[in-house]
Amino acid sequence: MQMKFDLHTHHQRCGHAVGEIEDYVIAALDQGLDAIGISDHAPFFGSDKEQELPGVAMAKLEFPAYVEEVLQLKKKYANRIEVLLGVEADFLPDHVHTYEQQLQKYPFDYVIGSVHFTLGRNIFDKSRWESADASEMLKVKEAYYDLIAASAQTGSYQVLGHIDAIKGFCPEMADLKTNKVDEALKVIAKNHVAIEVNTSGKMKDCGGWYPGDDLLERAFHYNVPITLGSDAHDPQRVGDDLEAVREKLKSIGFTEWCYFREKGPVIVKL
Ligand SMILES: [Zn+2]
Ligand SMILES: [Zn+2]
Repeated sequence: MQMKFDLHTHHQRCGHAVGEIEDYVIAALDQGLDAIGISDHAPFFGSDKEQELPGVAMAKLEFPAYVEEVLQLKKKYANRIEVLLGVEADFLPDHVHTYEQQLQKYPFDYVIGSVHFTLGRNIFDKSRWESADASEMLKVKEAYYDLIAASAQTGSYQVLGHIDAIKGFCPEMADLKTNKVDEALKVIAKNHVAIEVNTSGKMKDCGGWYPGDDLLERAFHYNVPITLGSDAHDPQRVGDDLEAVREKLKSIGFTEWCYFREKGPVIVKL
């Protein structure tokens, strides 16, 4: 059966998104989705501080309330749409165990693992590219894909978030050749982790989606499972480009994609 879903959404708790969780659920109903995943940024568990990065992720104290709110909405809307409990967690190699300990306390349907930091800096920090030449960019790109591959091996994640977001504010990055990309895709496939088509690339300088067509074709070659996420930080973007992504995936050769319930894949036809 053909299904419509969106697994990657945020809300006001993170400090840089608008709307309450219920606004995203209602937007999903308006879009005719069958399932909506809520996946706000996890608190920065690697820090001793209550809220390490205000404006980037919620405070630790907010986290149980976040989970509870999603679970309440799951019940409230059960007859109309499936609300899935997700979270987007930073992949930080030194803190994998800490995140696991924190996240295992709750009944997540899925965890999105995202690499937001590479070689000590945020990938969306525009200033890091100002004086970067091609060799510096390549170094960052290779380090980024090493991290992506390492994240797939942790067993912590069902989905890897936006796996070429490194190009977000450095579009040239997409054209730099390195076999680290294929190496990462092989590791992802071997570990049965899904990648998302994240339609928020168009909000950044690179335009389009994450990942780009080339990378999606390589993912198809290696049989990497695919899911969809708008990465909406505004309810208006829920389900954004869903049908266009479906058509793109079909044109590449994919016949199915998946979402997650209780950390198991629900595979549906495209
Ligand atoms: Zn965000
Ligand atoms: Zn996100």
